[in-house]
Amino acid sequence: MQTEYDVIIVGGGLAGLTLAGLLGHQGLECVVIEAGEKIDRVDSVPDDPRALAITHASRNILASFHAWQCLPQDRLACFRGMQVWDENGSGAIAFDSTELGRPTLGYIVEQAVLQTSLEQAVRSLSGISVLHNSRPCDIQWQDDHVSVILDKGENISAHLLVAADGVQSACRAMAGINYRVHDYRQRAVVCVTRTALPHGEIARQRFLTDGPLAFLPMYPDHQCGIVWSTRPAHAEALLKMTEREFNQALQAAFEHTLGEVKESERRSCFPLRRAEAEYYCRERFALIGDAAHSVHPLAGQGANLGLLDAASLAQLILEAGVKGRDIGGRRVLRSYERWRKGENRIVMMTMEGFKYVFENQSSPVPMLRNRALNFANSFIPLKHTIMRYAMGLSGDLPVAAK
Ligand SMILES: Cc1cc2nc3c(=O)[nH]c(=O)nc-3n(C[C@H](O)[C@H](O)[C@H](O)COP(=O)(O)OP(=O)(O)OC[C@H]3O[C@@H](n4cnc5c(N)ncnc54)[C@H](O)[C@@H]3O)c2cc1C
Repeated sequence: MQTEYDVIIVGGGLAGLTLAGLLGHQGLECVVIEAGEKIDRVDSVPDDPRALAITHASRNILASFHAWQCLPQDRLACFRGMQVWDENGSGAIAFDSTELGRPTLGYIVEQAVLQTSLEQAVRSLSGISVLHNSRPCDIQWQDDHVSVILDKGENISAHLLVAADGVQSACRAMAGINYRVHDYRQRAVVCVTRTALPHGEIARQRFLTDGPLAFLPMYPDHQCGIVWSTRPAHAEALLKMTEREFNQALQAAFEHTLGEVKESERRSCFPLRRAEAEYYCRERFALIGDAAHSVHPLAGQGANLGLLDAASLAQLILEAGVKGRDIGGRRVLRSYERWRKGENRIVMMTMEGFKYVFENQSSPVPMLRNRALNFANSFIPLKHTIMRYAMGLSGDLPVAAK
């Protein structure tokens, strides 16, 4: 087994595999250390019913190393419109991609399908190795390299170690970086449903008193991925219901917008939190994706931010390589931290604002909220600014995202 690499990436989720793909495509030698099992085919993906909203920026990043092209077309949907409304009042806003001269606002794909296709694309690159069923148990920082000792005893080293091992990042803990967590005391109940009426490629979200309920259009036309954020006790009750009870609760909470909910598949539940690492780097070490930050899924941005982290870091590493600089040096890592921390904070604060405004039922907030929604719906420049952000077309984007 090879023991020296340019970059070691711990975590073969969306963020880690994207970084590996971007670097491997440019000829760098990387190893991805992944705790989970190897999955060979898209039709054998694990039972994760999460459907993700993917921005144009993320599509561009994935297409830049041909991972987007690996996605099975019958598991990829697009949405050309979005409707958001409030349970308490008449406030509503609707977006249509044609307003910005685009055929789509974004894409919907199951998390597990995206991850499996991504891994297939990454494994086809000659400089990339993916080690499954493997975890780091010790990290040793040296002046000119970093060494990682794996649980099966191998010792590997590189110029840079990147932790993409998710919210519970063990590498972040080994690097002594604090992760500030705010528990929303909400759970997201997630599943795939079939409805009587077609979704018509519209993503819909209704803000209920306990949290938002989203129906994300999937392929084919009567299938949606739902994300129902709610109080933990209510989430527990939803999980315990029979399928018939759950379908009825779902269609009532969604005001029968897509008619009868005819079927729903297995339900899963995720705790919701906002979190951010105090630092995104230390010597020869960087954090990307959920290992660096976690956001509420109400605007479907978590994975998109992770892909932007990966593309930004890859760009800085590759630029340093071309200039003959140390790719794990302080200059690269501090630039990455400044860039992505600033961009991620804007999204996190915006999410926080939305969440506060939509869940606050104290007078006069609901009345003002409804007026603000209707105002934003009719004030075209503001509406287009919101759309550009949601589509991933705004902000300080890495080249691969453009
Ligand atoms: C209900 C819900 C809905 C969401 N909807 C959206 C959406 O619509 N759009 C969007 O952009 N985002 C969405 N997200 C967020 C998105 O799912 C995450 O942000 C994204 O999956 C994070 O990817 P990651 O690669 O950073 O981390 P992860 O997906 O957590 O991957 C981490 C990887 O590291 C591995 N690992 C962990 N520990 C170790 C270790 N010690 N050693 C080796 N490997 C390890 C894990 O096995 C895993 O493969 C949603 C999240 C939730 C909960």
